[in-house]
Amino acid sequence: METTMTFEYAPAPESRAIVTIKPKYGHFIGGKFVSGSKHFPTINPATEEVLSQIALAGKADVDAAVKAARKAYVTTWSKMSGKERGKYLYRIARIMQERAREFAVLETLDNGKPIRESRDTDIPLAAAHFFYHAGWADKLEFAGLGTSPKPLGVAGQIIPWNFPLLMLAWKVAPALAAGNTVVLKPAESTPLTALLFAEVCQQAELPAGVVNIITGDGTTGAMIVNHPGIDKIAFTGSTEVGKSIARAVAPTNKSVTLELGGKAANIVFDDAPIDETVEGIVNGIFFNQGHVCCAGSRLLLQENVAEEVLHKLKSRMEKLRVGDPMDKNTDVGAINSKEQLAKILKLAAVGDSEGAERWSPECKLPSKGFWFPPTIFTGVTQAHRIAREEIFGPVLSVLTFRTPQEAIEKANNTPFGLSAGIWSEKGSRTLWASQQLRAGVIWANTFNKFDPTSPFGGYKESGWGREGGRHGLAAYLKGVSHE
Ligand code: NDP
Repeated sequence: METTMTFEYAPAPESRAIVTIKPKYGHFIGGKFVSGSKHFPTINPATEEVLSQIALAGKADVDAAVKAARKAYVTTWSKMSGKERGKYLYRIARIMQERAREFAVLETLDNGKPIRESRDTDIPLAAAHFFYHAGWADKLEFAGLGTSPKPLGVAGQIIPWNFPLLMLAWKVAPALAAGNTVVLKPAESTPLTALLFAEVCQQAELPAGVVNIITGDGTTGAMIVNHPGIDKIAFTGSTEVGKSIARAVAPTNKSVTLELGGKAANIVFDDAPIDETVEGIVNGIFFNQGHVCCAGSRLLLQENVAEEVLHKLKSRMEKLRVGDPMDKNTDVGAINSKEQLAKILKLAAVGDSEGAERWSPECKLPSKGFWFPPTIFTGVTQAHRIAREEIFGPVLSVLTFRTPQEAIEKANNTPFGLSAGIWSEKGSRTLWASQQLRAGVIWANTFNKFDPTSPFGGYKESGWGREGGRHGLAAYLKGVSHE
């Protein structure tokens, strides 16, 4: 007789005592915190608790931030040697490491992602971006980007809520290394780690005005985009807003990089190592609640292994722990906002009405906050909206294929092209498939692996330009091709 024993997990909560959240925040302009006139709340999406009141930047604040950034660019930062700039970047990186626990707790409280992810992924990677770019600051002439590379000037940077501190690092570190100054706006729902980063800039004694952080909503973002004192726009977010930015900057001299949406195919060939593949599928779509632009949200299974993969995937999903993001055992945390939850609910309902079959493991969701269980839809066809549109939540659409050629055709049948995954034990097949796929990042036998040395960016409606690596530096220098 087979006996099974199950162990209950004891709660393993991370303490929030390490962070001090002020009741109200202003903007960080010219090296100082200045108070705002209007405010809006930022909440913990896991509990709906109001964490703080955040300043809403209007035209005068945007003007002040751009002016401070220009002054710092002209008088200090563009004149400083790369070696000196590098020292500041190293200092910032080290302080971020020293204060990593504080950053991780704050990120989890404001964003809803599991503490395990903010602690082990977001914050270490953010620090790694500063270390990496610190190394480039005095070696730009040797990056193969021209013999005398010059910065662009003042960069306006607008970032989303899914990886708040990490997206800040992707934007600020290369800009500063290349000699630019910045005006950055974090997302409305996740401003707290950017404001803590402002304190780090003070602690590192970064010259005033090199980094300016203004908080606000989409209207503040649009003011940055349209400001005549800005030389470059770097944006990560939805394709829709990305298109509006492209239209706004088209008649200007502004440089632009856009990192937009995705609907990545994660392709499983029949020779794939199935157990590893199942881990990769789970990591591809349930990491960060699926709030990942490069999430493996379209699973393409070769028909002869589909049943086995789905069986193992479901039993793995039954073991995912959904709930309190501050618990160190939690795998899937809260949905970032009420609006995002509404979008996921709507698209999942479209999946039902279009005839796909929905499955979720049994899991008890907390009564307060915003939650959606890990979900898969089978019987999905290419015409279904859930196979075409970015859901940006823990929802996987499963399709099947018979031949490798069919897999490629289905994978490329999307307006996006940010990332893709290939699972196969044959190197030749992996190389063949990666050459056919129209995606900026292609992972083989892994998924959602990030490294500051590796360029990241999309084809088609997934965006323009690259971030990270040598290619990412090019986007902050004059006269260098961005691709
Ligand atoms: P947005 O593109 O609206 O937000 C991204 C950033 O841009 C935020 O800081 C936002 O401010 C700002 N912004 C909003 N409108 C404008 C504008 N007109 N001009 C300049 N900046 C603007 O994404 P959402 O948060 O609304 O998410 C909507 C969808 O976008 C998601 O459901 C998801 O599908 C996708 N998305 C994709 C991301 C990616 O990494 N590819 C990241 C985030 C979302 P504010 O937050 O204050 O509105």
